[in-house]
Amino acid sequence: MIETLKKADFAYAPFFLNNEEGIHNYTRSLKIIENTLADFLKGNDSPYSGKKPHELEARLNELSIASIKGETLESVAAELAEFVINDSMNVHSPTCIGHLHCPTLIPAVAAEMIISTLNQSMDSWDQSSTATFVEERLIKWLCNQAGLPEKADGVFTSGGTQSNYMGLLLARDAYCKRVWDVDVQQHGLPADSKKLRILCSEAAHFTVRKSAAQLGLGEQAVITIKTDANHRLSIDEMNQQLKLLKEQDLLPFAIVATCGTTDFGSIDPMADLAEIARANGIWLHIDAAYGGAMMLSRNFRESVKGMESADSITVDFHKLFYQPISCGAFLVSDRDHFQYIQHHADYLNPEEDEEEGMVHLVNKSIQTTRRFDALKLWMSLKVVGLDTFAEMIDYTCHLAGDAAAMIDKEDGFRVLNSHPELNAVVFRYDPEGVSAQLADQLNKQIQQELLNSGRAFLAKTRFEGQVYLKMTLLNPMTRLEHIEDILGEIRVLGEMFNMMEE
Ligand SMILES: *Cc1c(COP(=O)(O)O)cnc(C)c1O
Repeated sequence: MIETLKKADFAYAPFFLNNEEGIHNYTRSLKIIENTLADFLKGNDSPYSGKKPHELEARLNELSIASIKGETLESVAAELAEFVINDSMNVHSPTCIGHLHCPTLIPAVAAEMIISTLNQSMDSWDQSSTATFVEERLIKWLCNQAGLPEKADGVFTSGGTQSNYMGLLLARDAYCKRVWDVDVQQHGLPADSKKLRILCSEAAHFTVRKSAAQLGLGEQAVITIKTDANHRLSIDEMNQQLKLLKEQDLLPFAIVATCGTTDFGSIDPMADLAEIARANGIWLHIDAAYGGAMMLSRNFRESVKGMESADSITVDFHKLFYQPISCGAFLVSDRDHFQYIQHHADYLNPEEDEEEGMVHLVNKSIQTTRRFDALKLWMSLKVVGLDTFAEMIDYTCHLAGDAAAMIDKEDGFRVLNSHPELNAVVFRYDPEGVSAQLADQLNKQIQQELLNSGRAFLAKTRFEGQVYLKMTLLNPMTRLEHIEDILGEIRVLGEMFNMMEE
């Protein structure tokens, strides 16, 4: 045995020894971490300590990264609490309502322990014996929830970025195969691929462009369609664009519909887009990273109508499903489409295994080593239950509606989406007699000061060139009174900053 591991004074045998002492080390270590986190959480309502970035950086630069002889977990945990944990963003705070960044469910966090302790890897069956089939069942369940046909399939991903990339990758390769009989995986892109185009709304996620760039099509391949007054893709504009592309001899091969845009939570007319896609032989990818959770809603289930007609779907669980990062899925209506990313490695998923019916999930993923993230979603769905999931999601949507209505009524505020479809509200402090330029500055200062004081974290974004504040109300523990308080605070800060200008 390695000398240092034998030493009696070595505080932690760092592996999972199966004797009593080993198990004790394991449970004791967890207890220390539990207590450290409990200290952070207890009585902590604030989204952030308020420290400035340069201060954090300077403090962290003082810390040693490695220690020669090793330290006790207690002392490292204490140091982490002081320097890392206590100044982290507190996603559990009811006023941490900036980004699509959710509070996590306790059963999901507990499942993370199982995931990390068992450390199954989803690429080949012999690294994930039961986990492979748990993931497969979850995928089947999700396909059913989305209303996809019998041939549907899917895989867990690291999130929406990866899922969107996969959707466009399969769409591109399916098109090249069908239209030009070109196998892109073997031969690369044909010359005419320069003409390929992707259509999405101007409010679609930036990863559509990023994917196009990475897929060798260039960002030039992405044509953005104007949105209507409700920030949804305009079907009229879509039809006009399609006509224009035809005239220019360009080749639209994919439409990306967004079910829940990142800023407004608006939902593109998916059923209409499905019809257009079908009529034109175009792949429909639905980016439901945010809005996919409406599958579980009771009151707003209607809003995901049309999703069942997609060729592929992105769903994120580390947003409105309250899962720890990272956790997402990519679904396809026809499992045969995964052929475009097939690769047989002798050591991992040889062809002969396939003939014997062995399941190796690497066949459906662009990752190789991959986490057993399906487990935390499963554990959450079982422990929390579908009734509570529906209630939580519906509550946050009602809260956003109430919040938008409340802000709309206030003098000196402007709401961009007074009837939010999901739970995001975009608004701005905009008192009379203040120029647009000054209002931009005031909103920036307000957002910064709310964070610095630890009162609330709102995101800031831009719309038509102007600065807006955004509340993403994912947390079912946030109440309308919290929002009322924040509005009061915004008014006070706004008046103060405005006065300092004069
Ligand atoms: C969050 C989001 C993404 C990106 O997903 P990640 O999980 O952050 O990779 C893509 N599309 C939409 C609409 C999103 O809201």
